[in-house]
Amino acid sequence: MKSGRIGRRDLLKGSSFIAGVAIAGAVPSLAGAEEKQAPAWDLETDVVCVGSGAAGLSAAVAATDAGAKAIVLEALPIIGGTTQKSGGVFWIPNNFTIRANGKVDAKSDCLRYIARFAYPQQYSPDSPQLGLDDHCYSLIETMYDQGTIMVDRFREIGAINPVPFDLGPGHPVSDYAGHLPENKLPIGRALVSGGGNAYMGGTLLIKSMETWLRAKSVSILTSHRARKLVYENGQVTGIEVDHNGVTLRIRARKGVCFGSGGYAHNKELTDLYQTSFYGACARAGSRGDIIAMTGAIGARMGTLGTAWRAQVVLDEAIENDTIVATEVFVPAGDSMIIVNRRGERVVDEKRDYCSRGRVHFAYDPVAENYPNQVLFMFFDSRTQDRFGGNYPVPTDVRESPYLISGETVEELTKNIEARLAKYATRIGHFSLAPNFPQGLKTTIVRYNKFARQGRDEDFSRGAQSFDVDWDPLYSSVRKGTKTPDNNMPNRTMYPIAGKGPYYAFMLGAGGLDTSGGPMINARAEIVDYANKPIPGVYGAGNCVASPSREAYCGAGATIGLAMTFGYLGGRNAATRS
Ligand SMILES: Cc1cc2nc3c(=O)[nH]c(=O)nc-3n(C[C@H](O)[C@H](O)[C@H](O)COP(=O)(O)OP(=O)(O)OC[C@H]3O[C@@H](n4cnc5c(N)ncnc54)[C@H](O)[C@@H]3O)c2cc1C
Repeated sequence: MKSGRIGRRDLLKGSSFIAGVAIAGAVPSLAGAEEKQAPAWDLETDVVCVGSGAAGLSAAVAATDAGAKAIVLEALPIIGGTTQKSGGVFWIPNNFTIRANGKVDAKSDCLRYIARFAYPQQYSPDSPQLGLDDHCYSLIETMYDQGTIMVDRFREIGAINPVPFDLGPGHPVSDYAGHLPENKLPIGRALVSGGGNAYMGGTLLIKSMETWLRAKSVSILTSHRARKLVYENGQVTGIEVDHNGVTLRIRARKGVCFGSGGYAHNKELTDLYQTSFYGACARAGSRGDIIAMTGAIGARMGTLGTAWRAQVVLDEAIENDTIVATEVFVPAGDSMIIVNRRGERVVDEKRDYCSRGRVHFAYDPVAENYPNQVLFMFFDSRTQDRFGGNYPVPTDVRESPYLISGETVEELTKNIEARLAKYATRIGHFSLAPNFPQGLKTTIVRYNKFARQGRDEDFSRGAQSFDVDWDPLYSSVRKGTKTPDNNMPNRTMYPIAGKGPYYAFMLGAGGLDTSGGPMINARAEIVDYANKPIPGVYGAGNCVASPSREAYCGAGATIGLAMTFGYLGGRNAATRS
């Protein structure tokens, strides 16, 4: 090999140019005298896709399918992003299974559902764009129009193999706000890669797209972190990448398409844009690099304060510096409630994680603080014994360092106060109200009445389809349990015992990942402050401003968006003249 540069270009053409290993071998020759002259391109291709999750791989599939050459950059040493550890479900309106079953997912109805859920303050059912401005309306319209086209095309070329998503034979799931009257087809929009179960979907989805790309000799370069866009003469022409401390310049003849995830693990950004955000189960690569990269070339930012929300066990998130293995998707148990610093319930505990996670931000304008900043998942020994093993409830109480217990409500209160004190400087010295134990006891009496009558007069727990569909998955009965079955009229509730021991987890606001960043248009082009596309740069998934704001429309809402707009970004970049 004569020089590093020639070597790297040759590698692109060759089959050895598959992983960072090949490049790493070529990099040392960069120190050669010849290489120190004006930096030209180290590699070139048509479309550079940043990130190897649902958005980035969809972009690469679409670009390749459209006849372009593509490469995928992945900052972490492993492929797949948060998508790989997810359920891999993708929410696609009017998809092929709906049509094959003879059902109708009418565009006007579906858009009403999305608009009503995503923009409750603006929603106007009788206006032509449902009360939304051109930009927002065009994005939700694109979700409907293009998602199904993407799925059909990806199926046709064999990049994915989706089937309807259900929680077991004969157990289809309803959309997260399936109870809204605007939702005329609450079941059927969720798809998942065939051949697995609810826990394997993400792995299968990534594997199927990765296999397709590798068969087309598309390189997926791990440990290649995009750092800076090359912007010349008013357009993006390439990208600078950090690979093990060495900067590579990659030319993108047609464009760069970002699918680089949110910024959940960048504390500077979460402190800046979120009200409070203690942790996320997103992979460590979610650092929001796109914000500085596209901000530097004038991209307009949108929905920076949004996230796909969920609650995290506060201690776990703090101890692990924001990275948690999983979140409290649906809190386990029936003799269980979530209360605030006054011991009062604040939410339907069985609602979906994204909507439920938003109750942390209620503001008290007299105390000038957030009374729900930390919430407490409170339960008795029935829930511990019967549902132990469903996160966060441990199979054995000795397993979880984060579990707080007490023989009485008073003892539990003391132990919660001690735990809060331990993290005082991390949580703004948040404390329990002096009347917490009395408040909790009053709440228990009221909750127990609701459990016996089967109707939650305060928060309608168990009345929504989501509550009853998903609860069994997160409250499966522990083998060897000694506590009786739930014989109450509403199986999501059971009276809390009059005697301890009692248990609690501290819950903080967190997310699967954030969902704000540069704004895109209906072609997945990143736009500037005049809403004009910045030539040569596209984005999709959690790294861009969410097209459905914070509405988690149904199972698969985030990956559906990532794939739909990733497809558009990859295809539009590939066909750019
Ligand atoms: C346990 C769990 C279950 C979930 N289940 C579902 C589900 O079933 N359906 C659903 O819709 N959502 C689900 N989610 C959420 C979902 O996983 C994410 O919202 C979605 O996968 C995001 O896709 P993405 O392509 O935008 O980002 P990611 O999949 O996170 O991919 C982004 C990639 O970009 C890389 N990257 C970041 N910066 C750079 C850079 N500078 N250079 C190069 N690479 C970079 C990251 O390392 C990462 O690999 C779940 C999440 C979790 C944690």
